[in-house]
Amino acid sequence: MEPTTILDTIIANTLVPLALRTDQEGRFPREAVQALAEAGFLGLISATSVGGQGKGLREAVQVVSTLAKTCPSTAMVVCMHYCAANVIEQFGAEAQRREIAAGRHLTTLAFSEAESRSHFWAPMSTAKAEGDGFVLDARKSWVTSAGEANSYVWSSKPVAGDGASTLWLVDASSPGLSIAGRFDGLGLRGNASTPMTAQGVRVNASDRLGEDGKGFDAMMGVVLPWFACMNAACSVGLMEGALERAAGHVGGTRHQHLGSSLADLPTIRAYLAKARIKTDMAGALLQDTLSAMETGRADTMLRVLEVKAAAAETALEVTDIAMRVCGGAAFRKEAGIERLFRDARAASVMAPTSDVLYDFIGKAVTGQPLF
Ligand SMILES: Cc1cc2nc3c(=O)[nH]c(=O)nc-3n(C[C@H](O)[C@H](O)[C@H](O)COP(=O)(O)OP(=O)(O)OC[C@H]3O[C@@H](n4cnc5c(N)ncnc54)[C@H](O)[C@@H]3O)c2cc1C
Repeated sequence: MEPTTILDTIIANTLVPLALRTDQEGRFPREAVQALAEAGFLGLISATSVGGQGKGLREAVQVVSTLAKTCPSTAMVVCMHYCAANVIEQFGAEAQRREIAAGRHLTTLAFSEAESRSHFWAPMSTAKAEGDGFVLDARKSWVTSAGEANSYVWSSKPVAGDGASTLWLVDASSPGLSIAGRFDGLGLRGNASTPMTAQGVRVNASDRLGEDGKGFDAMMGVVLPWFACMNAACSVGLMEGALERAAGHVGGTRHQHLGSSLADLPTIRAYLAKARIKTDMAGALLQDTLSAMETGRADTMLRVLEVKAAAAETALEVTDIAMRVCGGAAFRKEAGIERLFRDARAASVMAPTSDVLYDFIGKAVTGQPLF
């Protein structure tokens, strides 16, 4: 079977029946993650030399976007897994890479901190040399899949010397790691995106991902392009899901006294047309960003900065339109639109937030350094 067919089967069998419960109960989509793991999707971007599928960002974007049409919570869990797995592929030990490739290991990013908030590139948490290893202390403010992942790609201040940060692979079973309750958010409610604390968590030198003090380079060069594209993919998939539901609703709902459907109203059709254009523009920018990255185009960094903000802000508009054209019906859970409307709100405040990206893009187009 083609991977897309397998993915469609997983979506039909697992995401569709559970998406509502995932949202209502704020429940981690464990069944979906398990089904994706068994079908090889957690090892999608792992090299074939360690047993993975050997695919790249384009395929990861396709998977995240397809999942997001039905369950953005699951899509964001997978997005974070691919971001962290990509760092581990580049800097991690072979044993962990093999675990991820085999689908036995879910990972995620633990960057944002209580002290530096959305400025994830500036961790205030510490890593101190002790004996033959290191000790981590941190207050992480948001970690998707907290308490559910097997490991965390973790940022801290450098142990010694210059540089903004150092990255580590922290095993989820490490003593001293704790999770602050259950995630009860507005949207992406299945994400288990809770704060985490590290108090005297021990790591070994072999758990360091890259050189001490070089975490910023990995964040900007390895994580940011992948996260920007996959976060945008989540927004694009979510818009597709909202449009599909909205079109279905307005086509099937009748004003019987007039003998016509909502889709017979030109106003409704015009709103949907605008939402379709906006969705396609965001999707086209995402495809262009992937092409820029693949061919090393001169405008690659500008596209990477643009794509997440463009898709996130467009998703706010498109889900707003979907709510409007479906009227009071969209307020109810049955239409499945208010869930996507709430889920859409996360991307614009996920770091780098849209407003931070606007500042970066403004600096880029006026020839100023970003930092
Ligand atoms: C569902 C969800 C899942 C998440 N998962 C993860 C995860 O897995 N790993 C992780 O590390 N983090 C994660 N995050 C955290 C996320 O990346 C951000 O760090 C977090 O949402 C920022 O919230 P805050 O309240 O700390 O923002 P603040 O930094 O307090 O920002 C508040 C407002 O100020 C604006 N602002 C801040 N600085 C500037 C600036 N320089 N210019 C203009 N405006 C500015 C922001 O845009 C925002 O509107 C997640 C967040 C959400 C919502």
